[in-house]
Amino acid sequence: MPDPASQIEDLRAQFERDLAAATGEAAVRGVRDRYLSRKGGLLSALLKALGTAPADERPRLGRLANELKEDIETQLGARLSAVEQSRPPSGAVDVTLPGRIPTLGHRHPLTLLRERIEAIFTRFGFLVIEGPELEDDYHNFEALNMPADHPARDMQDTLYLETPMRSAVGSQATLLRTHTSGMQIRYMEQHPPPVRLIAPGRVYRRDSFDLTHTPMFTQVEGLVVGEDVTLADLKGTLDAFARELFGADRRVRFRPSFFPYTEPSAELDISCGACAGTGCATCKRTGWLEILGSGMVHPAVFEAVGYDPERYTGFAFGMGIERVAQLKWGVEDIRLFYENDLRFLEQFPL
Ligand SMILES: [Zn+2]
Repeated sequence: MPDPASQIEDLRAQFERDLAAATGEAAVRGVRDRYLSRKGGLLSALLKALGTAPADERPRLGRLANELKEDIETQLGARLSAVEQSRPPSGAVDVTLPGRIPTLGHRHPLTLLRERIEAIFTRFGFLVIEGPELEDDYHNFEALNMPADHPARDMQDTLYLETPMRSAVGSQATLLRTHTSGMQIRYMEQHPPPVRLIAPGRVYRRDSFDLTHTPMFTQVEGLVVGEDVTLADLKGTLDAFARELFGADRRVRFRPSFFPYTEPSAELDISCGACAGTGCATCKRTGWLEILGSGMVHPAVFEAVGYDPERYTGFAFGMGIERVAQLKWGVEDIRLFYENDLRFLEQFPL
């Protein structure tokens, strides 16, 4: 049997090493249990072993063992009260916890796309103008070559207000604008040529709410007026715009169309990005996607704003930003843009 006195000293040294290595309240409590636990604690195991020592040595060994027990209790007590004091009071902020990273907000995809379109035309030298969403009949229809009985008015089912609006051209039926073309009139009334502008903004129509229609949507209309503005300028400008927005590998084509305020009129198609123009479900097997309407400004529009139609020519165009967004990102349901579902909205870093 090893010398009982040295066993006591060994246990003391072991305890001091363990206590020094224990960091934090739980670890110190662990050391206490390991040494002082009545069942299986190292100290009670030692005391049990001392019971087998020769009778004449027992009083000395008992004294040494009691000293060790008191030492262990004293040191543990001191350490425990130290760690308990460093514990934060309940309800306090634990500054050692890792922080929560706040989610960064971002702009709506339609806003991002509108800004992108504005940036492209600004670089082309266009002015960006905005105007009222409440419009009078004259600026929304009549000055754009759509008199009261014009059939094209039916194409734009209009939301009227009950109270007419007083304006510079007399008392007028007041409506939620069906397009931003009224801003072309308002600008030309105030400024002589040349003109080069785009007018983005919300427009309203009595439409259903389905895959491709919403009663409110966002439009960008453009107008260029000068002394030698030709159809070639229209084609060159819109071709450059479409390639800038959709990519240089996309092809464009113009298709004859009809609008009351332009003559001739054309719709611009771009080659389908999903099938590279070979025909698929997205482009209804045609290889082409319609993105905007355009044309040379009708002389009647120039007459309405006091421009000389013999001297000036111009072109105009208009597109729905939602439609462009659907084509650009392959979104099949236009309503997704208005349902504020973050799982959808978060997918558009432009
Ligand atoms: Zn296709």
